[in-house]
Amino acid sequence: MLYLDNSATTQILPEVRSAMLPYLMEEYGNPSSKYYLVAENAKNAVKDARNSISSLLGCTDREIIFTSGSTESNNMIIKGVADYYSEKGNHIITSKVEHPSVLEACKFLETKGFEVTYLNVDNFGRIDLSELSSIITDKTILVSIIWGNNELGSLNDMKTISEICLERDVFLHTDATQVVSKVAIDLTEFPGIKFLSCSAHKFHGPKGIGAAFIRKDRYDILAKITPLMHGGGQEEGYRSGTLAVHNIVGMGKAGEMSQKNLLNNIKKLCFLEGYLTTILNDKFKGMLIFNHDKEHKIPGILSVQFKGINNEILVKKLAPFIAASTGSACSSSKPSHVLDAIGLSIDQVRNTIRFSLSATIEKEDLNIFNEL
Ligand code: PMP
Repeated sequence: MLYLDNSATTQILPEVRSAMLPYLMEEYGNPSSKYYLVAENAKNAVKDARNSISSLLGCTDREIIFTSGSTESNNMIIKGVADYYSEKGNHIITSKVEHPSVLEACKFLETKGFEVTYLNVDNFGRIDLSELSSIITDKTILVSIIWGNNELGSLNDMKTISEICLERDVFLHTDATQVVSKVAIDLTEFPGIKFLSCSAHKFHGPKGIGAAFIRKDRYDILAKITPLMHGGGQEEGYRSGTLAVHNIVGMGKAGEMSQKNLLNNIKKLCFLEGYLTTILNDKFKGMLIFNHDKEHKIPGILSVQFKGINNEILVKKLAPFIAASTGSACSSSKPSHVLDAIGLSIDQVRNTIRFSLSATIEKEDLNIFNEL
């Protein structure tokens, strides 16, 4: 079976598994404990992992807070900023094509009296920068915009969004879950981004572990938010709870591998995407419409309409040979909010399949389409 649902999750790399195993067995210490070796070893392993994630993102170690993944990071940042700065303002800006962990957190905040603006997007799912600019007021406490879309792969112009938020002195959070390891990120080049979320399992790390980037100011003070988890004060008090050392080590190794192979992986994903596009165009002549943009996108995500074919039926038919998806949160009763926001009709949404590649795939693997 050829797995083409790498935007949903990825297989952990053998190197990641090997790095994790000792921390499930002999190295079982709690990194918050003191004086004895297994605790010291666990503490050092967490330190190294934090360093590999900070160097992958271009920030400092202290700015990385380990969480259970992007859902938690998104909730922690959005609700945490809203609570901490509620006296300053009650306005939050996001977009219509965010992941549910952003949209639902915002909807929750609306029930608490916050006002949320959900920006429209263009045909490829990108926000309009001048609309963003015009909508920021002195009551705006947070802008939360997805960096790269999970259904379409489209990249927002994060450079300009970062500049706008910096200039207007508004906190910017970005959900970077789909871009980490597929796009070179250097947070020193995006000073407007104060918060970022990511999940290890999207880049060949384990599930249930992720990070929140929280930027520090020039006095070395991390941006303040109210924590979701109160307790023992781990992770600088932002995320209490005993650290999942094995998962953190796995995330660190996956981050290290991603950084080492970044340019080659990007090149390979671009090549595989081109090859798969050619195969699909040959096989399904005249039947396809590509929803995704050709440029400014995450390499390896294809969103394709198969004209007149129900996506659920096709995905089920393909399932023994090829794992693909109808796009997250898309079912016959609840069509994808992302495809809806880019203006597709309900029929077009129901014809859409997402294929998402990984650099671990070989060109020959894709020839399976010719054998169907
Ligand atoms: N944001 C985006 C863009 C995602 O694709 C996902 C995972 N589908 C998440 C957030 C949530 O990540 P997790 O399930 O690892 O918490």
